[in-house]
Amino acid sequence: MKLDRRQVLAGLGGCAACATPLYTVAQTLQLGSFDITSVSDGHLVLPGSMFFDGLPQEPLQEILSKNGVSADQLKPPCNLTLLRQDDKIILFDAGAGAGFMPSAGALLDSLAAQGVAPEDITHVVFTHAHPDHLWGILDDFDDPVFPQAELMIGQAEWTYWTDPDTVTTIGEARASFAVGAARRLQAVEDQISLFNSGDEILPGILAHGTPGHTPGHMAFEIRDGTQAVMVGGDAIGNHHVAFARPDWPSGADQDPDLGAATRLRLLDHLATDDIPLMGFHLPHGGLGRVTRDGATYRFLPEDA
Ligand SMILES: [Zn+2]
Repeated sequence: MKLDRRQVLAGLGGCAACATPLYTVAQTLQLGSFDITSVSDGHLVLPGSMFFDGLPQEPLQEILSKNGVSADQLKPPCNLTLLRQDDKIILFDAGAGAGFMPSAGALLDSLAAQGVAPEDITHVVFTHAHPDHLWGILDDFDDPVFPQAELMIGQAEWTYWTDPDTVTTIGEARASFAVGAARRLQAVEDQISLFNSGDEILPGILAHGTPGHTPGHMAFEIRDGTQAVMVGGDAIGNHHVAFARPDWPSGADQDPDLGAATRLRLLDHLATDDIPLMGFHLPHGGLGRVTRDGATYRFLPEDA
């Protein structure tokens, strides 16, 4: 594989209230005819309890301190994948938009730093419909941010979030996710197209059903001949516990047991076939390799 890792200094983001830059670098990888760039939407600020409640504390602390991560608060980065090929400009997920968290929503600045305007985007492909992946689809006036784009989402994910019962069955902690997703998906329904696991959704882009984090979560294998990269979404949600103990249930997954089974299967696939991973919440722009480490795994960032 020809790795062309230009480190692009993307500059300061558009969040005047933030003390630190929303984003710093983008990573680029040339894969055959595909030009793949990770573009940052900023980061989230989340309580550690959301991920770690119920896990065995002693081995957990060991993993976290090894990775320099606090158990109290996590600040996962948000890396979207921008894929350019011929006349197509494809964005995987849409970011959080302005209304979710002050530390996120920098996507349009990151795209501008790449010379890409919102109306240049021809396709937006969703891994899932959580706020940090979907809510950037509408602007402050509820108009579509990517007016020219075909918006592609898995059939199961669409069905789940547009089901009027979801808001009452999803649980109190995620009820706002359900309301927010339904409203946004309905607003852009005219632009939507649906697909299923196993479909080649665009030439060279294969959808892999990876449920658990959400019911219809998808990962995407971008392939040109023998070269491939996997856009993993949140199926592998962090670089510490998800790699060291992928079998542990994560409170970030809506179905923690199914999420763990999916994570184990995906990590095995990526390590065995040596396919680089673009992870939405992984560090160093999200791009790296999955290596086996005894019975567990490690994330090796491409720029480390
Ligand atoms: Zn996410």
